[in-house]
Amino acid sequence: MSEYDYDLFVIGAGSGGVRLSRIASGLGAKVAVAEDRYMGGTCVNVGCVPKKLFVYSSHVAEDLEDGAGFGWTNSGNLNFDWNTLRDNKTNEINRLNGIYNNLLEGAGVTVHNGRARFVDNHTVAIGEVTYTAKYIAIATGSWPYVPEFEGSEHAITSNEFFFLPELPKSAIVLGGGYIAVELAGILNGLGVDTTLVYRGELFLRGFDEDIRLFAKDEIEKKGVKLVFNNNIRSITKAGEAYSVALEDGCTINTGLVLAATGRKAHTQDIGIENTEVEVNEAGNIKVDSNFATTVKNIFAVGDVKGGYQLTPVALAEGMALARNLFAGKPIDMDYENIPTAVFCQPTIGTVGLTETQARERFGEVDIYKSEFRPMKHTLSGRNERTFMKMIVDVKSDRVVGAHMVGPEAGEIMQGIAIAIKAGATKAHFDETIGIHPTAAEEFVTMREPA
Ligand code: NDP
Repeated sequence: MSEYDYDLFVIGAGSGGVRLSRIASGLGAKVAVAEDRYMGGTCVNVGCVPKKLFVYSSHVAEDLEDGAGFGWTNSGNLNFDWNTLRDNKTNEINRLNGIYNNLLEGAGVTVHNGRARFVDNHTVAIGEVTYTAKYIAIATGSWPYVPEFEGSEHAITSNEFFFLPELPKSAIVLGGGYIAVELAGILNGLGVDTTLVYRGELFLRGFDEDIRLFAKDEIEKKGVKLVFNNNIRSITKAGEAYSVALEDGCTINTGLVLAATGRKAHTQDIGIENTEVEVNEAGNIKVDSNFATTVKNIFAVGDVKGGYQLTPVALAEGMALARNLFAGKPIDMDYENIPTAVFCQPTIGTVGLTETQARERFGEVDIYKSEFRPMKHTLSGRNERTFMKMIVDVKSDRVVGAHMVGPEAGEIMQGIAIAIKAGATKAHFDETIGIHPTAAEEFVTMREPA
């Protein structure tokens, strides 16, 4: 009989925590998970899932407009009802919360609905009840960060966006990362007069330069107002609206200010001070390559330990930790070539190195580019273009980066990512037969380096 109540106690039932709990339980461990907010964490409740549902909705008006060139017109009035979208989304997410709960219980995991706080290195308390565990994993995710400035308390974050009581007529989105461009695209598509304010020269820092420039043009064409090299100095409430003063001295009146200015590790109120677990300067839990914190029986996976803030990465980390602890076959996480999509409109899909990174790493690289009007828009008449780019290390002929701005970029890039992960060369891409007529076939027909 074990000296502990559980082999593994997981704090947080988000992407990383749920995967870790289920796999560990499947490997024979006695596992409990504690969650005090919502099953599935940020991704399911206030992140990837509701965001994607809203992206679908925000595309509908454009799709209907595009229909005219294909013979479809709508003589009736077209109305959008925010409450319907928001509440249907919430119902769907309630359903998913239940599924997550069932998945955990079905896997034999004990689910505690409550806030778990460390009492010591092997003990957590939920309310007055304490539980001991051989291993404890922190999977508490991250939380939106809003910089402090005059009136910053008036800014909402992505957390509140998904539950807005009503849709404003106008909005300012602050930030130039994933969330800012995605939510600005949604607001714009739903008919909100949207301005994105970013402090730098060009948004989406870290992405390939050509992709950033191309996305800027396409997003602007859709109607989002882009204000770069600027920042919010203050927000003043003026009746139902807000007066937003920018650093360049301009003032914009708006119905909503949404700060998408990053997310920070969520380590508050989990009793971390009762352990010797250390956090770094950025507030992330320090871990080694096996996800062990500075206390050898306490681990951390997902956003809370910093690094990539992506659901599939947290899932992979949860899986790796479960195997490392209970399968006797440690596996190392491979953080190379993580594909990702930004669901702005049109979508960005990317995997591997940017051109700048590839030049730094390999020296001589060939760049292949293709820009075209998607076939659909030959009849719709919409002035939207697609861009694709491939980066090839000349010495090995390996494709080391692939990037795209265009419809379904996320769907396309998932397949390309497998090829790149497998070490595919440009010759492999060239030998691959295209699927016609698709946009994706461009990736196997780009012949001349730019
Ligand atoms: P990001 O870190 O991607 O972007 C934060 C943005 O806010 C940057 O543009 C940053 O500017 C700006 N910023 C930071 N501090 C300030 C400040 N004090 N004043 C003004 N601007 C500021 O964070 P997000 O919030 O967009 O998203 C968090 C993470 O969630 C992402 O990194 C991503 O990993 C994940 N995510 C993934 C999605 C997906 O896979 N599709 C979707 C949504 C989120 P600067 O560039 O100058 O630093």
